[in-house]
Amino acid sequence: METLNGNKIAKLIKEDIKNEVIALKNAGKKTPHLAAILVGADGASMTYVNAKAKDCEEVGFDSTVLRFDASITEEELLAEVEKINQNPDIDGLIVQLPLPKHISEKKVTQTIDYHKDVDGFHPMNVGLMFKGLPAFLPATPYGIIKMFEITGIPLSGKHCVVIGRSDIVGKPMSALMLQKNCTVTVCHSRTEDIKKHTLQADIIIAAVGIPEYLKADMVKEGAIVIDVGITRVDAPENPKGYLLKGDVAYDELAPKCSYITPVPGGVGPMTRVGLLLNTLDAVKRK
Ligand code: NAP
Repeated sequence: METLNGNKIAKLIKEDIKNEVIALKNAGKKTPHLAAILVGADGASMTYVNAKAKDCEEVGFDSTVLRFDASITEEELLAEVEKINQNPDIDGLIVQLPLPKHISEKKVTQTIDYHKDVDGFHPMNVGLMFKGLPAFLPATPYGIIKMFEITGIPLSGKHCVVIGRSDIVGKPMSALMLQKNCTVTVCHSRTEDIKKHTLQADIIIAAVGIPEYLKADMVKEGAIVIDVGITRVDAPENPKGYLLKGDVAYDELAPKCSYITPVPGGVGPMTRVGLLLNTLDAVKRK
């Protein structure tokens, strides 16, 4: 069994990005600039946005965080997005989700200029991705594909079961694994007898959001298991007051796997790198 260390792989990629930024500057091109919009004061969202700004700093990108009160109207927020669309200094824009209920996430996502949509949520990028054309890929599936590529894990011909069909993880993940010549099964909350499918899988990608959902008896010997799930579970004994739990019962499952990702330190850092790669790409495409 080998643990796929997302922190270590992400660090290697970040070194490459840093060098590319230096090369861009030496060639007289602009420094990549990521803008993030944060609405309200949700603790997890603030943590994610701060982490993204820190990542930018680490690789030499510029970053701007635009913070708005939760009372901002949809119209006002769309106007802010438009302003960034028009700003030639900003290459990539992300709007941290979730947004307050009175604002349509769909409208906001579709208002971002798709050339700056480094989260890859705009329908234009979704369409390009499904066609296998150059697109900004959603950061989590992108990061997982990078992890496979760098680790040299062969994918062609393998049976991959993706659990979850969300727009940001499950659906794009299944499309990208198909492009890598996997045979793909997508499971979700209405799938009957999920275990029947997971037991057939060479690769399982779990993106469910239920802590320790995937148990050892659901996985065949030698499988590769990628745990996307991150759920905060109350843990008063922990200084933070919570623990991060994945979708995989890691301790019981790891001995059966050929490769497995931990939580934390697996897919999370790869997701952050996916966003950086897209932002760099936004500049390189100009
Ligand atoms: P989501 O939008 O809530 O989607 C969850 C998916 O799981 C849905 O497709 C749902 O099916 C399916 N599901 C729910 N209960 C199930 C069950 N009992 N059996 C089988 N499938 C079930 O979540 P998401 O945004 O894809 O995220 C999934 C998890 O990954 C969350 O824990 C999230 O925090 C984490 N995440 C981590 C990263 C990272 O960087 N590591 C990035 C993104 C997300 P239906 O479609 O039928 O409802």
